Amino acid sequence: MLDILKLVRHNIYKLTPYSSARKIGGMGHVLLNANESPSNLSYELIHKELNRYPEPQPKKVISKYSLYSGVSTDQILVSRGSDEAIDLLIKTFCEPGKDKIITCPPTYDMYDISAQIYGVKNYIIPMLYNWQLDIEKILKFLNKVKIVFICRPNNPTGNLIKKNVIIDLLKLFKSRTLVVIDEAYIEFCIEKTLASFINKYPNLVILRTLSKAFGLAGIRCGFTLANKKIIELLNKVIAPYPISTPVSNIALEALSDSNVKSMKIRVSEINYNRNFLFFELKKLYFVKNIFPSVANYILVRFCSVQKIFEELSRKGIILRNQDSKINLKGCIRISIGSRDECCQLVKELEKMSKYFK
Ligand SMILES: *Cc1c(COP(=O)(O)O)cnc(C)c1O
Repeated sequence: MLDILKLVRHNIYKLTPYSSARKIGGMGHVLLNANESPSNLSYELIHKELNRYPEPQPKKVISKYSLYSGVSTDQILVSRGSDEAIDLLIKTFCEPGKDKIITCPPTYDMYDISAQIYGVKNYIIPMLYNWQLDIEKILKFLNKVKIVFICRPNNPTGNLIKKNVIIDLLKLFKSRTLVVIDEAYIEFCIEKTLASFINKYPNLVILRTLSKAFGLAGIRCGFTLANKKIIELLNKVIAPYPISTPVSNIALEALSDSNVKSMKIRVSEINYNRNFLFFELKKLYFVKNIFPSVANYILVRFCSVQKIFEELSRKGIILRNQDSKINLKGCIRISIGSRDECCQLVKELEKMSKYFK
């Protein structure tokens, strides 16, 4: 009899796959677990020439993103979400079983999972207590790794790794290591972007997405910004037609001047709601710690986290439990929803506050 588990690659056999918010599920009417936009925008679906394959790299989309980001067109790659870009970077630059990467948890899980899939060792160097990089430890691996992944603003802690530390890393790692800065949430603090530095540092790679501030998680569209040579290499490896015609049409529309303008308005509303939620949560005695955030989520440490998480789930408010993650005992990540969703959350927590006493 065929034992399929003897056929599968050993690292896939051992792999614990990414548990996405949609996979974990949870029945709710207030979904604050995936850092999505609370606004559902309407886009026209233009069904034109669907009998033809799409452009491998849609020119108009790249040209609009170039205007939006200030990065030139030959320094941009479009992919199926930035998750595909993470996968492509490891696939393109890391020799399985030989090359290594660095990640600094608590951070986004996909860097580690993609590395595991390709059999690439991940040196895990946890962040310090202030959620900054443990630079001394990282420097010990100076000549030993191909890629350092840094999420900025960091998911799930919400803070920014200091810019001068990134610049130091870019300089020190110049001759042999890519420094990948994942800017999935940069629109919430756009003045902090490092995009313009790709002209100065040939080892800098920046990841962007339409999934968060642009409110388009459903279309799966991301961007890699890096020097031309890196983009050319990634283009050798990417699937022949990664972006479907409807996706590139919607992306193009999302990047129009007027839609970028409304995205910025939504971002300032979210940032306002985040501050509102921050101060409301501060009043609750079972909140131990709220970590200041510059993104569309906040990380909160609770007393009796399990109880709170489950009670809110029962009420249809779905958050992301981080309790089992490295250095995040008792923590929950809360995506910033609409003002109404924030208020519903606060109201339920206030009710529980009485019930706990
Ligand atoms: C959501 C998220 C992504 C994934 O973005 P997609 O473009 O939807 O694949 C990448 N990095 C971080 C840090 C994220 O939180």
